Amino acid sequence: MAFALTIGGKAVPCADSFAVIDPATGAEFAQCPLASVAQLDQAVAAARGAFTGWAATPIERRAEMIHAFADALAAEADDLGALLSREQGKPLAAAVGEIHGAIHWTRTTAGFRPAVERIEQADGGRVEIHRKPLGVVGSITPWNFPVMIAIWHVIPALVAGNTVVQKPSPNTPLATLRMVEIAARHLPAGVWNVVTGDIEIGSGIAKHPDIDKVVFTGSTPTGRAIMRDGAANLKRLTLELGGNDAAIVLPDADVEAIAPQIFQYAFGNSGQICAAIKRVYVHDSLHDALAEKVAALAAAAKVGPGTDPATQYGPLQNRRQFDYVSTLAEDARAQGGRFLAGGKPLDGEGYFFPLSVVVDVTDGNRIVDEEQFGPVLPIIRYSDVEDVLARANASENGLGGSVWSTDIGRAAELAQRLECGTAWVNSHSKISPDVPFGGAKQSGIGVEFGLHGLDEYMQLQTVRLPAGA
Ligand code: NAD
Repeated sequence: MAFALTIGGKAVPCADSFAVIDPATGAEFAQCPLASVAQLDQAVAAARGAFTGWAATPIERRAEMIHAFADALAAEADDLGALLSREQGKPLAAAVGEIHGAIHWTRTTAGFRPAVERIEQADGGRVEIHRKPLGVVGSITPWNFPVMIAIWHVIPALVAGNTVVQKPSPNTPLATLRMVEIAARHLPAGVWNVVTGDIEIGSGIAKHPDIDKVVFTGSTPTGRAIMRDGAANLKRLTLELGGNDAAIVLPDADVEAIAPQIFQYAFGNSGQICAAIKRVYVHDSLHDALAEKVAALAAAAKVGPGTDPATQYGPLQNRRQFDYVSTLAEDARAQGGRFLAGGKPLDGEGYFFPLSVVVDVTDGNRIVDEEQFGPVLPIIRYSDVEDVLARANASENGLGGSVWSTDIGRAAELAQRLECGTAWVNSHSKISPDVPFGGAKQSGIGVEFGLHGLDEYMQLQTVRLPAGA
């Protein structure tokens, strides 16, 4: 397998490379080209050079080219999915599903059209509000959904008329390189460029004087670093950062009905989802019954390599995350936590951690207060609804939250009091390409998806016209 950067529509080799690790074995399975700072500059120059022409291309024509890219992605979904499964660790079917999700997102977003608003003035004059592309957008992505998140960043940027320089996570760079190679066959040269690397190239993007905006998905500390680095040229920012979403189960909830859903929204992608359920607060009267049911589902789940068709849940994606989740589980046990399922890393090679449910932990324990981003779910007892709302809101994070009840009206009222960007009733994690998604508090700045998301890639321009215009 040979991989290359895409700069100015061409495959560009690199002098250096780095190892990509298979998380199912912990061993290297490919070498990825490593971009130099000079190549980052070339990519930015290519994007800048392509900007005027792309921005001037009618939006309908831009959308046609984006649809052609989506068609090509669909034709290669199986191969790309296999590569994604190998580098990310998720089961093959889930990886192919990620590619199809990315295609769906691409096509829906290609249908968005920025509005021109008109406001009539009392003096007979008229104001028009236009939306214009920003210029060059830098996109920096994480390792949990490398292809999907790349699409979330890039497609609205392109629909809006910007050009892009993208950098995937060094843990999962390969499917993104392949995808941009495919895109380059359908887009003008320089419209979508991709470079590789870690902090040096990432902060190089954040600092770059010729990049106008950065869209970043990843951890909150990195988000802060990007904000600092972007200050020099007042970069526009969209930051999708960490979460520690609470699910609150009210005393009237139907345990039988909700246990499989709580399980699903906590353990999808082996817990490596920004807006997964990361702590479940259950009323005293239901706590034991719900914890046992979720634990039974966790214990029955098949954890294994993504290449095994029987696997439902893959390994953690990288050694650092595996060690971190192991430490949090150890700490929970030391604090008196009782594991009803899992609790210790699986023996053997690779970064496998079983789906785990821990009870008898509470706020103040690391497993409750910190974002585990892995398959260890704390289930926490409460007795007073007002108190539990305060505990759910006591986090510095505010990505999502949910309330579970048979009384939808009451649950909706409480859900609106959660301090978070998305509040669900009787579900969690669900997102759609036409619905804005973003974090409150330290979980981010701005939103993605829908027309609100498109606005983040555009500069408003107010045009004031005199009476009679
Ligand atoms: P990370 O912050 O370590 O890395 C993300 C990306 O940033 C990588 O491409 C990395 O190379 C780059 N990077 C690292 N340091 C940088 C710097 N100083 N300047 C510029 N770029 C830099 O995050 P991760 O470990 O890959 O991802 C896990 C985190 O992402 C979790 O906290 C998770 O909640 C969050 N996440 C959030 C969302 C969301 O939509 N809110 C979605 C997925 C993941």
